[in-house]
Amino acid sequence: MGWRPCRSAEVRRGIDTAALLVALFGLCALATRFLLSDDSGYSSFWSANAAMLVALLTLRPALAAAVLAACLCTNLLINQLSALSPPESVLACILNVLQAVLAAPFTRRFCGAVTNLMRPRRFAAFTVIALLSAAAEAALGVAVERIFLNDPGVPLHEWVQWVLCDALGLLLATPAVLHLVRASPRRPATRPHVDTGALTLLLLCAALAVLSFAWARSPLFLFVYPALAMLAFHARAAWVFTAIFFVSILASALTAHGLGPIARLSPDGHLMREDMLQPYLFSLLLVVLPINNAVGEKRRYTSRLLLLKANLEYAATHDALTATMNRQMFETVLGALIARHASGIVLFIDIDDFKSINDGLGHQAGDEFLKAFGARMRELVGGLHGSVGRFGGDEFAAIVPGAFSPAERDHLCASISDALRAPYCFAGITRSVTASIGAAMIDPGSAGADDLMRKADIALYMTKASGRNGYTLFGMPPAANAVPPPPMIMLQ
Ligand code: GH3
Ligand code: MG
Repeated sequence: MGWRPCRSAEVRRGIDTAALLVALFGLCALATRFLLSDDSGYSSFWSANAAMLVALLTLRPALAAAVLAACLCTNLLINQLSALSPPESVLACILNVLQAVLAAPFTRRFCGAVTNLMRPRRFAAFTVIALLSAAAEAALGVAVERIFLNDPGVPLHEWVQWVLCDALGLLLATPAVLHLVRASPRRPATRPHVDTGALTLLLLCAALAVLSFAWARSPLFLFVYPALAMLAFHARAAWVFTAIFFVSILASALTAHGLGPIARLSPDGHLMREDMLQPYLFSLLLVVLPINNAVGEKRRYTSRLLLLKANLEYAATHDALTATMNRQMFETVLGALIARHASGIVLFIDIDDFKSINDGLGHQAGDEFLKAFGARMRELVGGLHGSVGRFGGDEFAAIVPGAFSPAERDHLCASISDALRAPYCFAGITRSVTASIGAAMIDPGSAGADDLMRKADIALYMTKASGRNGYTLFGMPPAANAVPPPPMIMLQ
């Protein structure tokens, strides 16, 4: 079984994540020892080991080992304050580390590199891993207690309770801790986004748990299910797991202190309480997991469809070679401008002697040149808030919106003509070309896109007829070709 201790992306996680995990371990261990445990020391789940498991899954080995050592010491310190005898305390601390060490390679191997426990199969695999690692840990604990601590032997139901307590702890806490570590901002300056709707539902779940477990006769604990289901519909998995974790803490703490419906149903035995509480807590996971997964799948499916739709729309409206609009789209944009009674200028542009590029350098290089020419057009016209389209071959069209005086429109056409003459780098060479331009004015009374394009086409024909390399405004004589064709530059 190949197990890489952590992915290269996680090597960057540093001391702050390690400190967070040790703090989480300490908090969970304290809460379980003093809040969730009953008079005999039984608790329904032991969540602290999740912090050590997450350290092994997300930190580089040296740092993960440091976290495990720090957790071991924290655990020993907390046990000093509890009713455990010193040998029992040391054994419990070592066994806790052992469970995390046992579970980590299998979690990495069977739950994927990013350990996304929301996927039902991965969660099922993780449930088995949590149970097996807890069973191994508890079996070793029982054996050591028997051999070295002269314990007469633990009854089977106590061993089962030990296994369920540690397995449930991993199941309830690992997904939330994993998310907390992965979502912690790399740059402290970025403020984390809080989903207020999810936070409200989380608080509602916690309130229902407190109310129902503080008041023994209340059936409100049944309403935790629909509240969690609503959260599972509307929020990300991390919120759902966090809510379940807090509901579990509250329900366990109140039950351990003899409050709530589960304590009321089993007044005679502590283990009975755990036996009923543990399935209740696990059932919370089982209710929300399929809902959240199904909603997540649907979300992913919808976003894939939307992406596909956007790609199809783009392909239907753009020229694949030059990434400019196709003729149909261009005419739609022009039509919309005319319908708004806007002003502007439409340009029809044909590259002069383009065939020589195709003939001299090959069709492939011709394509590369058309791409470079399209990019130049987009750059020129995009800066003027205009649009560019390719009509086929070496014919392009552009719309530049705005009201232009006669001097301004001449300046615009001349500057575009000049800019198109600047050298192009394509297919490993540099080369200059000239272009012929026909222009027609868009004014509030313009007849339609077809009419304007026809006028620009006639103007373009006049530019070609008068010697190319210049522009003609429809209804005016061709502008003198003030600038001679540039010398051809070819660099290898
Ligand atoms: P003129 O100065 O009169 O415009 O002459 P020209 O050589 O530019 O020729 P014209 O505009 O009439 O023809 C454009 C040529 O562009 C014809 C065709 O072989 C070529 N062509 C059309 N589509 C493509 C294309 O997608 N890629 C390439 N590389 N060439 C194309
Ligand atoms: Mg041409």
